[in-house]
Amino acid sequence: MFAMSSHPSVIETDLEILRHDCAHLLAQAVKELYPAAQVAIGPTIEHGFYYDFAFPQPLTADELPVIEQRMREIVGRREPIRRDEWSRAQAEAFFTEAGERFKQELLAAIPEGETISVYRQGEFTDLCRGPHGEDTGQIGQAFKLLKLAGAYWRGDHRQPMLQRIYGTAWPTQTELDSHLKQLEEAELRDHRRLGKEMDLFHFQEQAPGSVFWHAKGWRLFQRLIGYLRERQTAAGYQEINTPDVMDIGLWQDSGHWDKFGEHMFTTQTPDERVFVLKPMNCPGGVQVFKQGLRSYRQLPLRLAEFGKVHRYEPSGALHGLMRVRSFTQDDAHIFCSEQQITQESLTICELILSIYRDFGFHDIRIKFSDRPPQRVGIDAVWDQAEQALIQAMQTSGLPYTHNPGEGAFYGPKLEFVLRDAVGRDWQCGTLQVDLNLPGRLGAYYIDADGNKQTPVMLHRALFGSLERFTGILLEHYAGWLPFWLAPLQVVVAPISAPTEAYALEVAGQLNAAGLHVESDLRNEKIGYKIREHSVTKVPLLIVVGQREMQDGQVTLRWLHGGQKQTLPLAQALVELTQQNQYPSNLSGKQPGRLENP
Ligand SMILES: [Zn+2]
Ligand SMILES: [Zn+2]
Repeated sequence: MFAMSSHPSVIETDLEILRHDCAHLLAQAVKELYPAAQVAIGPTIEHGFYYDFAFPQPLTADELPVIEQRMREIVGRREPIRRDEWSRAQAEAFFTEAGERFKQELLAAIPEGETISVYRQGEFTDLCRGPHGEDTGQIGQAFKLLKLAGAYWRGDHRQPMLQRIYGTAWPTQTELDSHLKQLEEAELRDHRRLGKEMDLFHFQEQAPGSVFWHAKGWRLFQRLIGYLRERQTAAGYQEINTPDVMDIGLWQDSGHWDKFGEHMFTTQTPDERVFVLKPMNCPGGVQVFKQGLRSYRQLPLRLAEFGKVHRYEPSGALHGLMRVRSFTQDDAHIFCSEQQITQESLTICELILSIYRDFGFHDIRIKFSDRPPQRVGIDAVWDQAEQALIQAMQTSGLPYTHNPGEGAFYGPKLEFVLRDAVGRDWQCGTLQVDLNLPGRLGAYYIDADGNKQTPVMLHRALFGSLERFTGILLEHYAGWLPFWLAPLQVVVAPISAPTEAYALEVAGQLNAAGLHVESDLRNEKIGYKIREHSVTKVPLLIVVGQREMQDGQVTLRWLHGGQKQTLPLAQALVELTQQNQYPSNLSGKQPGRLENP
């Protein structure tokens, strides 16, 4: 469904307190070194913290080590961190006197009657709810400043541009070291760099957060869709497609306009109708269900859609393929009766997990969120829906976490989290029970007794966003995608001019067998070609020389791993065609074993 995550996190754990202490430490160091700098906000984030500042002279990245050094000194001073509660007038006077305009704005935004607290350490005073540790010594030395970025005050482009300093902090040096190593590893695998080197896609300013897919990237994308399509067709889904642009009235009826209107793109036509560029596929799916009279015999009705959705995200939040403004969901809506929820949930869970294994993801966790205090529907149905999800989750045998009260108002949900090769977690698939939308949009079916019933709707996404999943795959495999997914699978290279014709013959036969092949006839050494095609992550180079030509053979050079093998062309065709199958169709395969041989 629609998950917008921009809530400031509530500080709960010791680790979050440590990171928040570190944000104050950073601000104190900055104020000591640059007294004219103004401080804005400094929250904790995943793995660390940041603080936003307005510097009179823009800060440069080479000043970060100086700031970090000062932070380490302040830790050594063991300065007590004190909490004070102030009256509004006292706080206003203080932050006005100090010339801190951002703090004045934050203060003005605190509702009347709420406690106003400040935290003080050394000469530094911050407007803050807390909690914090007792002194700066408790922070220890397992922290590091990472980078400098620009950020608009309050994320609003009409507001001043501030400078944001990011840092990471951990309880121990060992944890810090392993995190830094992970960052380094991730940096090497950055899908934006790989996308450029492999010639897959680009972004440009005229279309913020929207992908320009190049031929190779689009081939990869279509290959992914082809695989998913085959899997879900086999699982009893029917594929539909619904309009990208629909009248605003539909979004008002569905309730999305009220809840998420500020994230939606709208357009007005010359006849003065207002349309919404769809931010999700669900209302469209319900319209298809509503066509004609539906009988209980048709349930469960599984309608899948590779639907492209558009959501306005602030430009500062955009990040390559991982966070975009338009993306393709591998979405499905299953209309079923209350009695069918359990069986459907089990089947969906199995499908999702089997697909993840096909892509080489084995470390998977599930998050279960159940009924919130404010909700629609009767408790008996909630009981059933929650039990269904719990059963599906337990049957999977995977580790899971329970988030009490964090389900949507219309139903409980499961979220599937993948851990990648570098140890990062990615929340991908979802299974969401919906006891609200079908009724709200007037969908019904006729039950065995001839009565109208409202179906339950299950929202199911396999990877969520296919664009994002492409980014995850690229980083997980460091660009070395499994053979069947590689956008350019084989390059055929002759050793010398007399074998060119044979090279073209080999390329032609591989092409005819459905492989994506190019030939490289340039007058360059094989070593050079190996290096060059390794950069673009072509899995296989086929080298042909006089000997191969005479014997009707080919030499395979796997560029990732370096294995070499000479075999008859006919046999190579059989083996490569086999490897080009979707992993689910490989006979005798070990699940998920897709690495290049
Ligand atoms: Zn604070
Ligand atoms: Zn949906």
